[in-house]
Amino acid sequence: MRELGIGLIGTGFMGRAHALAFRHVSAVFELPVTLRLAALADADPQRANQCARAWGFETAHSDWQRLIDDPAVNVVAITTPNHLHFPMAMAALAAGKAVYCEKPLAVTLEEAEQMNQAAKAAGVVTRVGYNYQHNPMIEWARQMISSGELGQIISFEGEFSEDFMADAASPWAWRCEPQHGGGALGDLGSHLLAMARYLVGDVQAVCADSQTVHRQRPAVSGSKESKAILVDDHTQALLRFANGARGTFSTSWLKHGYKNHLSFEISGTLGTVSFDQERLNELRLCRAGQSGFQRLLAGPALPGYAAFSPAPGHQLGYNELKTLEVHELIMALTGQGRAGTDFAEAAAVERLATAIRVAAREQRWVEVGQV
Ligand code: NAD
Repeated sequence: MRELGIGLIGTGFMGRAHALAFRHVSAVFELPVTLRLAALADADPQRANQCARAWGFETAHSDWQRLIDDPAVNVVAITTPNHLHFPMAMAALAAGKAVYCEKPLAVTLEEAEQMNQAAKAAGVVTRVGYNYQHNPMIEWARQMISSGELGQIISFEGEFSEDFMADAASPWAWRCEPQHGGGALGDLGSHLLAMARYLVGDVQAVCADSQTVHRQRPAVSGSKESKAILVDDHTQALLRFANGARGTFSTSWLKHGYKNHLSFEISGTLGTVSFDQERLNELRLCRAGQSGFQRLLAGPALPGYAAFSPAPGHQLGYNELKTLEVHELIMALTGQGRAGTDFAEAAAVERLATAIRVAAREQRWVEVGQV
């Protein structure tokens, strides 16, 4: 039995989600390797020390390069703000380490392509945190599509909206900086684009519109000092898929009422399937000739659900999707995995997001392959 050393950079929202997944995965699955929580890094040394102790990591660093240099680290998990993915992943790849990077892959398409090329040259496993794809209900929808159960796919209508920036008094954060890869499109929209590609395939052309509604936000919570906001609050697009399907794309972080509304309806000539992450244990399906939608529920007939619970109705949650993602990563690292969302696929998502930005800026249809 081999040992796999995990190095985790970042201790925020996603740092904790990765730590939970790395801790849970060996309780949920029989793994072909033993996981060693080798090192944790955060720019804040106190936080690094405290989280390393609490989360069970052996060593703590405030300098992420030292984590990458640590011989006990085989896989580098990156959960820092978007603009740090590039230098961290490039350093990890140069050291020959596998990389599990949060989404979006990078801030610019050029960086994403360089990361993709570096990963190919290094010949290591890479994965990107498009965790919603790991929901067994999404796998079920994907099978309906690939088996032809829905007929020829003719449309994808997708929306990913939340309301965490809806209040104009919500302060500036790294997500509000263009050079940090901020904006609703990069933050939320990238998940939806990854999902559209995962389920329906390549997008050939897009037209789009984007808007910044709140052009100033407090520099910090409650402050009178404000900062100019140059990223999109919401973006809408039309999509033309390579297989002929047509689509709509909409993302917003201003939409009151929505907390994690990653949703889609996919229609084929023989049926429609629909999904909403706010009800992640359900799919709605209507086959041609049925009088309406039926509700399909997650349960132990689906392997990704059965791994956690033998009983129906007990429900999966967000952190279980992360555990399923980490399981796929470990299987890939031990040569037993399936193809997954690696740097090549995540760079293709960035190309599509870039095409949408260009289309919105220039107010025209853009061929994705030409950006
Ligand atoms: P966050 O602000 O909560 O955490 C960022 C962490 O990075 C903090 O612990 C911070 O101290 C650390 N950090 C910053 N600079 C650093 C440096 N130089 N060295 C070491 N550590 C440093 O952010 P978050 O919400 O966890 O987002 C992080 C990443 O995860 C982003 O890329 C974001 O897009 C992604 N994300 C993904 C999902 C998902 O569902 N997959 C959800 C939320 C965020």
